[in-house]
Amino acid sequence: MSHPPLDFDPSAISLPQGHFIGGKYYFADEAQIPVYRPSDGRLLGHIPDACAETIDYAVSNALQAWKTSGWATRPPRERAKVLTRWAELIDRDAVSLAQLEAVGSTRPVAEAYASDVPFTAEAIRFFAELADKLGGDVAATRRDSLGFVASEPYGVIGAITPWNFPLSMCSWKCGPALAAGNAVVLKPSEMTPFSTMRIAELAIEAGMPPGIFNIVNGRGATTGAAITRHPDISKVSFTGSTRTGAAIMSDAAMHGTKPVTLELGGKSPQLVFEEVSDLAHTARCIVRGFTSNGGQACVAGTRLIVHRRIAEPLIEAVQAQLVDIAPGPLWHSATRYSPIINRTQAERIDSLIDESRASGAEVIFGGGFFENTDDGYFHRPTLLANVTESTPAVRQELFGPVLTVQTFEDEDEGIALAGHPIYGLCAGVHTRDIGQAMRAMRRIAAGTVWINRYGRSGDMIIPTGGFKQSGIGKDLGRQALEASMRYKSVLIDFDAM
Ligand code: NAD
Repeated sequence: MSHPPLDFDPSAISLPQGHFIGGKYYFADEAQIPVYRPSDGRLLGHIPDACAETIDYAVSNALQAWKTSGWATRPPRERAKVLTRWAELIDRDAVSLAQLEAVGSTRPVAEAYASDVPFTAEAIRFFAELADKLGGDVAATRRDSLGFVASEPYGVIGAITPWNFPLSMCSWKCGPALAAGNAVVLKPSEMTPFSTMRIAELAIEAGMPPGIFNIVNGRGATTGAAITRHPDISKVSFTGSTRTGAAIMSDAAMHGTKPVTLELGGKSPQLVFEEVSDLAHTARCIVRGFTSNGGQACVAGTRLIVHRRIAEPLIEAVQAQLVDIAPGPLWHSATRYSPIINRTQAERIDSLIDESRASGAEVIFGGGFFENTDDGYFHRPTLLANVTESTPAVRQELFGPVLTVQTFEDEDEGIALAGHPIYGLCAGVHTRDIGQAMRAMRRIAAGTVWINRYGRSGDMIIPTGGFKQSGIGKDLGRQALEASMRYKSVLIDFDAM
């Protein structure tokens, strides 16, 4: 694909500073959090660690803007114009945004430019287009009355995002919330804060009233919890781990019984039946499914469940596609493979592999880290065989490029193995038998099922969200806009007028 020059000098990137509140950068909070470059482990910069007073300032700013700026009361199409302009500005700044994303997250610059930035713009554009398409219902009441359900924004929505796709995750949260007429106070991950702040600047340039979209920086247990607990936050929309999601749900229950949208972890299967049309294509889906972003994707397809008769050729085809994977600095446009976000996470991956081996698993490909990558942790794509449902690498989300391999004899066994006791985010099903694909789709408890493919497309109309402990509610799709509004039931009696 041809694109403008993307390679850059990481030390020449300028970073946004502080918080972004009321339409401008805001400086408070003495405590500073260091932020590192994942691909070589060097210090990138610092962000403040917002205390409760800063959160209070951000939320009161947002509430004031929500009440007085006219954002909530203007026609939805007027909000849509601003959001559309915002998406255009994100596209305009695609190179600099991709570079900012690449220097401070696990996203290679070429991928950030080709996918993350345009998908971010597209998600915002999608919700702009939807802004006046949804909103209420007329009820079938008796003839001398009119009953209807009117939608309203909540007010100020608190949003909390993870580090793995900072820009996209921000757009999934703020796109529907803002299109519905809410104000937003968003906390990005303390590991990857900078690109989110930059697009908040662009929202102001697009004409969004100051105070409607605010970014506060800080750690989860303090800043994140203060957002959830704030009395003027009316709803919380979160993407991150299942464990944090549970803490947020509990906080939201105890501090105002607020609704939550939770997009959480996964341990998704790739179920491959005996009859697939193109083994190389299936192998590509599997490789992409567990190596994209170094395996650090909620939707990662990390459990291969394959029919015994094609297991050997499929594993060979997968391995053949893995041998050329190589690490590289994320600021080189040729780099396609992502590092692990930090040392703690890298060590966690290896300790889960060690625990799995101790319980009988065998590393049949990869294992360990690539060498000569400074202090960047690039884990080798790794295949683990001889695993069972109780192997740690099968049970737990590793968040690294590790694929476990299990085989089955018949459809029932394959579908049973594809289910997971904890997670239900996604599943890949590979077969050319449509009946078999549909039976598997119905029987696997997962919020998304991909058939003969793996991974999201640019179809923002398709929502995403998990079953079981993978989440509550949906991002994207009309469901995300609907979840950003509350509904008022109205009944009018004509005769009493
Ligand atoms: P995490 O749960 O550690 O952190 C996510 C965010 O929550 C961060 O901003 C963090 O600071 C904040 N946080 C932490 N503790 C908090 C608390 N007590 N109260 C409020 N906020 C708190 O997750 P992570 O490591 O940043 O991201 C990886 C996880 O995200 C994985 O489990 C992955 O599967 C999940 N994820 C899910 C989706 C999805 O759509 N389902 C998408 C991307 C990532």
